[in-house]
Amino acid sequence: MKILLVQPRTPATFWSFHHAVRFVGKKASQPPLGLLTVAAMLPKDWHLKLVDMNVSRLRDKDLRFADYVFLTGMNIHFECMKDVIHRCHLTGTKVVLGGPLCTLDPGLFEGVDHYILNEAEQTLPQFVADVQNGTPCKVYTSNEFPSLAKTPVPMWSLINLKKYASMVMQYSRGCPYNCEFCGISRLNGHVPRTKQSENVVAELDALYSAGWRGGVFIVDDNFIGNRKKLKQHTLPAIQSWMKARHYPFKFMTEVSINLADDAQLQQQMVQAGFDSVFIGIETPSDDGLSECGKKQNQHRDLVQSVKTLQHSGLVVSAGFIVGFDSDPLDIFDRQIRFIQESGIATAMVGLLNAPTGTQLYSRMKKEHRLLGIMSGDNMDASMNFIPKMSFHQLKDGYNRILRTIYSPRAYFLRVKTLLRDYRLPAHFPIKLRMHDIRAFVLALWILGIVERGRAYFWKLVIYCMFTCPKKLPLAVTLAIYGFHFRCVTNSLS
Ligand code: SF4
Repeated sequence: MKILLVQPRTPATFWSFHHAVRFVGKKASQPPLGLLTVAAMLPKDWHLKLVDMNVSRLRDKDLRFADYVFLTGMNIHFECMKDVIHRCHLTGTKVVLGGPLCTLDPGLFEGVDHYILNEAEQTLPQFVADVQNGTPCKVYTSNEFPSLAKTPVPMWSLINLKKYASMVMQYSRGCPYNCEFCGISRLNGHVPRTKQSENVVAELDALYSAGWRGGVFIVDDNFIGNRKKLKQHTLPAIQSWMKARHYPFKFMTEVSINLADDAQLQQQMVQAGFDSVFIGIETPSDDGLSECGKKQNQHRDLVQSVKTLQHSGLVVSAGFIVGFDSDPLDIFDRQIRFIQESGIATAMVGLLNAPTGTQLYSRMKKEHRLLGIMSGDNMDASMNFIPKMSFHQLKDGYNRILRTIYSPRAYFLRVKTLLRDYRLPAHFPIKLRMHDIRAFVLALWILGIVERGRAYFWKLVIYCMFTCPKKLPLAVTLAIYGFHFRCVTNSLS
């Protein structure tokens, strides 16, 4: 059987880091972990090929080669997925669709031959068995959340690792929280399921053997969902693996803000090689947090929580949202103030949308405010429901937040705040590779000579050299991210 696995193209958004990855000579920020994992579940004698449309072209020749095209994607990939399905029809290739978007709303797509919904560990084996018997069904679905013990090591041999800025792995699925706009609990459940330490080590070994050195993004819904297991088993195993190999990786992951309440967990994460975390902060407004059910963020000093994490050795990036029903007119200024004070350089701001299958989607439908499916693109300044504040006010305010926080002056000021509050872990060796040197030279040229905000860049470099020279690589990396965010912001309508 010949299988072509296709990862759709991600348009340039804040999340894509399109303008940043070119500094390090890469084509995309991360490889398609889902498809690489699915590939490892398929029979060994099937012939597999993977095309990631973010790093190479999908040719009709590739489509014609395959008996089945396995396609996946999220909201942001919707248009590209439709296009791939259309091209499969033209070449007469059967389409097998899976992944989060079609699991939450299988009715979105026409012309799909087979749906592998929910988690592949649960639904893919029956499809494979039926294909081998010549009787595949249309839909494979399950209400069960499978154990991650069944999850194989991704098939890294299908891609060229050198084309990506960072690698990815997954340790857990599921999140104990219940934010109204989030589809995670429906997709992956409330009870975090985790891999065993030996599986985690096997995945680290596989990346290491494939030659990878550098960043690894652990793409969990909430990495600290099961803290006891992390502290007792997983983090000690990662730490000893990393130490034995002189820290070849740097980990980043997604956590909830209550990591700030657990000094031991912070310390263990830093010791194991974590240098940054992404947190859904969403809004400094307690009413907004209450409205969306983000309990873990309420009744706390959020700026102080961020500072605690920065001081422990974790750079914090975060997501912010405007467009809650309870948002007051001054929410835009409050968001700007919060982001500047907290020193969160990588602040991803978006307009609230109701992803398919979430509680917010159901509420908007019930209140007759739903307009369609969300685009998943925080650059197009659209909402898929009718907001309480006028849409024009929201859009203007949203654009103002972005233009303010990513202006060279505000951005570099924020990076300086972070450098002041961030404690660089002593045990972490600073290793510069060829692509880091290339990025540094390009940064000096583009940010220090060509760009309009170059004076702020040089002020930051000089500040860093005289006060915290060891943090210079971090300062330059963040300056490059800032360039990406400015490019994206400048293209906003
Ligand atoms: S904490 Fe994050 S992953 Fe968990 S429900 Fe809320 S938004 Fe989703």
